[in-house]
Amino acid sequence: MTQITKVLVSKDQLQQRVRELGAEISRDYAGKELVLICILKGGAVFMSDLMREITFPVGIDYMSVSSYGASSTSSGVITIKKDIDMDIRGKHVLLVEDLIDTGLTLQHLKELFALREAASVRICTILSKPSRRLVDVPIDYSGIDIPDEFVVGYGLDYAEQFRNLPEVWIVETRD
Ligand code: 5GP
Ligand code: MG
Repeated sequence: MTQITKVLVSKDQLQQRVRELGAEISRDYAGKELVLICILKGGAVFMSDLMREITFPVGIDYMSVSSYGASSTSSGVITIKKDIDMDIRGKHVLLVEDLIDTGLTLQHLKELFALREAASVRICTILSKPSRRLVDVPIDYSGIDIPDEFVVGYGLDYAEQFRNLPEVWIVETRD
């Protein structure tokens, strides 16, 4: 049985942190050509909120990668399911993620955008599980640290459900 039991991060906490991150990004990239690249599907909700907190025009694009199969543990293997449409050579890229767990997905994507000759590649995530990290990938804009629990909501799913919850919830699976 799968159930969502408890709110881990409230709507207000998310909104406040997104505002702060937006302000920080706006300061850091002032005068530069910035492209936000959302990692689908989980990043979509955060991306929509974050872009509206940035105070100058930005380019946006979307990419879909899979690092998780049916199970809820990382395989360490990443496949590009949908690539961006834009040519990002010479542009400043900010990868927008829902959650950084092992760090493997982002490490791989950072290398990919460096190969594509982006002017710079940074990472922004709304959630992070520092205790789960397997690779030491620097997170330039990190929203909220959470414990090692499987979570849903604010874009994150369990079997494609719960993405539309406005808060982040803890999932419990029992037999
Ligand atoms: P990483 O490559 O850093 O291990 O994690 C890749 C992706 O796995 C995250 O961006 C996220 O989409 C997914 N993921 C990691 N932990 C969770 C979790 O607790 N809940 C959900 N729904 N997805 C997770
Ligand atoms: Mg993700």
